[in-house]
Amino acid sequence: MTELSRYGAYQVKMPLPFRLDHVNCYAFRGEAGWVLLDTGLNYGPTRQAWMEFMAEHGIRPENIAGIYITHYHPDHYGAAGWLQEISGAPVYMSDVEISLAEKIWREDTVALMMEMLSENGVPAGVGVQIMAGVAEMRTRIKPHPRLTPLAAGETVHLGALRCRVLLTPGHSDGHVCFYDEENGFLFSGDHLLPRISSNISLWPRSHPDPLANFLASLAETSRLPAKMVLPAHGEYFAGVPGRVAELQAHHRERLELIRRIASRGANAYQVCREVFGDGLSLHEVRFALTETLAHLVYLEKRGLLKTERVDGVFFYTGRKDQDQEEEEER
Ligand SMILES: [Zn+2]
Repeated sequence: MTELSRYGAYQVKMPLPFRLDHVNCYAFRGEAGWVLLDTGLNYGPTRQAWMEFMAEHGIRPENIAGIYITHYHPDHYGAAGWLQEISGAPVYMSDVEISLAEKIWREDTVALMMEMLSENGVPAGVGVQIMAGVAEMRTRIKPHPRLTPLAAGETVHLGALRCRVLLTPGHSDGHVCFYDEENGFLFSGDHLLPRISSNISLWPRSHPDPLANFLASLAETSRLPAKMVLPAHGEYFAGVPGRVAELQAHHRERLELIRRIASRGANAYQVCREVFGDGLSLHEVRFALTETLAHLVYLEKRGLLKTERVDGVFFYTGRKDQDQEEEEER
């Protein structure tokens, strides 16, 4: 990415042990030192990649002046504590994400998550394996950094770039993007990705309607005159309105598919298996289920589905009048 390096900015690709095998972090050279944006998981391959990047650019740990995090997910936040430990740099994240990181990563949310899985029809054995995966993930986000809150609308210096902090809730409740108005660069984190759609998930202790948040954030992003999007996964790209329109269409279709399946009567796990199929890893089942739930609650909140608890499991059905309309269409 030669264009970026003209601005003293670098993409630093970090490995991930998943099918999505990398996360793009960024580093910016500035007068006051280097600033990093997102950090990767805290595990050997990430630490090695940061060390190699630092060696290549002659950066000593104490030259790192600040670390910005788009959101609290492990592949972005995970190595922030380690980087702070070696550099002493402040770690900035939005206040909503700071409180989510506290709630999700520090407190014991395992019981709540287990409950959510079983209330949505996930077989106990699968639930146990999913939670083992979550427990393993928790080891890759330690140590936790001391966090400094970042306010929406505030302007920060990422090296030579002056960026506005844009609150873009949806993928996570307090996700932020960094927008450099002068050059039209949008560091989009996981909010806007080129090939895959951002995972929109319902989690215990987080926003009850994340898909509505995401669709509202997308519409706002579409109005930015950004020239280049620098995402956390995949290649950089231009054409924000076109990409936003594709994602809006994806969620409209997904909502309609999920509404049709759930209208026949199903729990979230059954809907999830029908939408995503059987070829998912346990790591992916967790995301597929919470993504299905985000769509189900969106439909339920708009009166397009009904839910009731039967024997401890939430069971979705269609609206009577709508079922009849569809019956008549046939
Ligand atoms: Zn994420």
